[in-house]
This record gives sequence, C-alpha cells and structure tokens, in this order.
Amino acid sequence: MTIDVDLDLVRKYDRPGPRYTSYPTAPHFTEAFTGAEWERHIEEANRTADRPLSLYFHIPFCDTLCWFCGCNMLVSRRREPIDEYVGYLYREMDLYARRIHPDREVVQVHFGGGTPTHLTPAQIRDVGRRIRETFRVAPDAEISVEMDPRGLTGDHIAALRDAGFNRASLGVQDFDPRVQQAINRVHDARLVGQVVQWVKEAGFESLNLDLIYGLPHQSVATFADTIDTVLAFEPNRLAVFSYAHVPWMKAHMKLIRTEDLPAPEVKLGMLKLITETLGAHGYEYIGMDHFAREDDELTRAQREGTLQRNFQGYSTRAGTDIHAFGMSSISQLPRAYAQHVKDLPRYYAEVEAGRFPLERGITLTDEDVERRTVIMRLMCDMGLDYARLGADLGIDFTARYGEEIASLDEFEEDGLIRRLDDRLEVTPMGRLFIRNLAMTFDGRLAHDHARYSRTV
Ligand code: SF4
Repeated sequence: MTIDVDLDLVRKYDRPGPRYTSYPTAPHFTEAFTGAEWERHIEEANRTADRPLSLYFHIPFCDTLCWFCGCNMLVSRRREPIDEYVGYLYREMDLYARRIHPDREVVQVHFGGGTPTHLTPAQIRDVGRRIRETFRVAPDAEISVEMDPRGLTGDHIAALRDAGFNRASLGVQDFDPRVQQAINRVHDARLVGQVVQWVKEAGFESLNLDLIYGLPHQSVATFADTIDTVLAFEPNRLAVFSYAHVPWMKAHMKLIRTEDLPAPEVKLGMLKLITETLGAHGYEYIGMDHFAREDDELTRAQREGTLQRNFQGYSTRAGTDIHAFGMSSISQLPRAYAQHVKDLPRYYAEVEAGRFPLERGITLTDEDVERRTVIMRLMCDMGLDYARLGADLGIDFTARYGEEIASLDEFEEDGLIRRLDDRLEVTPMGRLFIRNLAMTFDGRLAHDHARYSRTV
C-alpha cells in the first residue's frame, strides 16, 4: 500500500490526543485503586484458566542519558544496583506466581526499558531460566527484547537466544553524526550493521528497528539518508516515532536547543518521506508509528482481524492478561489496569513488604470495556465491522454508536473514511489520523485534562 500524504490534511488534523495503548488512558488511573482491588481482579481472571498470559519486564537502567528520552529510566554504570534490581524482580515474580493459576500459559514475554541489554549475558540467561521455572511458558511463545546497539556483544545475543528470545527491537533513531551529537546518542551504522548481522545469524524470527524524526538538525535530506541506511539492513518491521519536545515534563530535554529543532514544515516533510518511502519499499503502514513487511505476522494479523494493541504497541497475541514486573510498568486485566510505583526505593519497599508495588490503577466500568473494544478494533483493523462488534459486545452496534458514526462527516468529506451500511472503512490516508478517529469513540475525553502528544 502506498500513501500519497496530503500535508494540508496533516496540518488540519494534527492536535493533542491519546495514543490509546490503553482505554481508559493512563491519566484516568487513580491512586485510590488498591492492592486488594487488584488481587480481586487477578482472582477473577484466574477463573478462565485457559486465558493466556503476557509478561512484561521493565529494566530501567541505561549507561548514559539520551537527551530525547521519554522513558522511565535510570542512568547507572555500576553493577550493584542492577544486581539488586534483578533480585527484586524475582521476588515480585514469586509474589505473582502465588496468585496466578499455575495452568495458565505464557504466550508472550517482552523486555523493555531503559535498556534490557544492560543486563550481563549471565543475568539474561538467569532471568530467562527463572521465568520458565516460575511460569508455564508456551513452546511457541513470542519473546521479545528492546536493544541498544551500544555495548552489545555477540555473547549478549547468544545469551538472549539461550533464554528463548526470538524477536528483537533495536534503537537506531538517526545516523547523522550531527544529530547524534545533539541528542547524546552516538553509534555509527557499522556498529548497528554488526548487531543486525548477529541477530539474523542467531536465528531471531523478527527484527524491528526504531527511528525518530523531529530531532535537532534533522532535515528531509539527512533523514532520507538514515532511511536508506536502515532499509539496507532489511528489518521485518520499522517503528518511526515523532519526537515530542516537552522540557517542562522531562527536564533533561532542555539539553536539546529549541532553535536546533526542525521547523514544523520540515517535520511534516519527514513524515511524508517516511510514509511514502517505506510504502514504496514493501512495508505496510500498520498504523500509528508502525510499519511491517507484507509477510510479517503483524501485517498478517491485521489482514485477518486479529491484531491487538496494548502498552507495547501492536501485538499479535489476542485475549492475554498482561502482568508487568519492575518499577513504573503497567499491567492489564480484563477489567483493570494497574501501574507500579515510579521510584526505586518505594518499589523495593513494597516488594519487600510482600505487597503489589502499585502506584495507581483503574477498575473499568461496563461502558469502558465496551468502548475499549471499539477503539482497539478501530486502531487495529482500520475499520469497524458493525455486525461483528455487535455480536462480540452483545449490542445493536449502530443503535448504540449511531451518534458517533454520524459525527464523522468531515472525515468522510476529507477522504479519510468510507461509511457503508454494514461497516466503516479507514482509507490508506485515514490511517495517519487513526487517533483522531478513535477520539470520536472515547467516552471520557470531555472530562480529560491530560496533556497528550500530537496525533500525527
Ligand atoms: S537508551 Fe533508551 S531508555 Fe535509555 S536513555 Fe536512551 S532512549 Fe532512554
């Protein structure tokens, strides 16, 4: 699919809005949510013992700080804090393992950060072993890891494979030396090429590369060079994120000089370049920031209507409960979300006391559960099948959501959707504005005072 990006429409629809990795979105989580409530949700989820599990492990440590970073991370080169953290992850796993039905199968594991490959090869092997000892991991589980090419060794890759990892995601961001200096993240294409080769030789089933546009000193021409270099590595997937400069929320972003950032028009030019170039090279635009080759399982899942969206972005494993481990991570059960505390001493104290280290969360209402299904199907299927949704939710879909569907005139006039009798279809161009479309079905947006990133 190739998309001819209309920049006038991008200018028109680009406004703050949620990314819908959850619904309700994280700003609606509250500190009134208790560990007892969470425990009740876990017990309820256990009643369906064949409901699969997805595990997320947050490894917050990084060697150095990238100045564009928006993650929950800690800079540390010393080994002791990391060793201590891994010890607490094990204790937290035990805390959950006592409560999760032992028959439930883990079909997905994801390591994010921070930098998961900050762990030593021996730690990676040990964590992998510990997960399998604690939970029932399916033989064909999807086990993925985010990597920083800096500091990676062949032994890390071998350890990841030994521990069962089969999908890798590598942070590249940009190859231009001037851009790299201005964001404090320097690594050349040779290093990335070496890691890509290791990953492929080791037999990982899928490789994703992350890029960011909107960084200091980037231009359409420099970013075109980065994309060319990246395409030569033939990744299965590419995630291309827009840099949100929010120094009032992340103080270290002040290290990036505002005057070095590309002008909004240049950023739009890069968006057009990315979408059109990747489309021309056989990558399907899945939605949001994600592109995947036509034969990739994400593309197949989207075609078959089984794609999912959660805190890690798009996923192929349906109907899983997500249990997250480590500071700041977020878990998802059928009727609840819970986020862990964001600072290390509190995380340790809570785990030490045998309590879930929760900071905030939310129990979903019936309406939340229903709207979540509608928004997630829209974001994953790039359309709404009224009969299927009606059957899944046990409602007359067009009667319940008639007002929302009727309010989409402008989207249709702009060629972003087609409304047929039995379904709504998002056009290729409309994929760029999927967040705007999803906002139409968000029942909480009117009471939402959160500051979201821009939608395009
Ligand atoms: S490596 Fe990733 S998590 Fe760590 S500082 Fe850089 S962007 Fe942030």
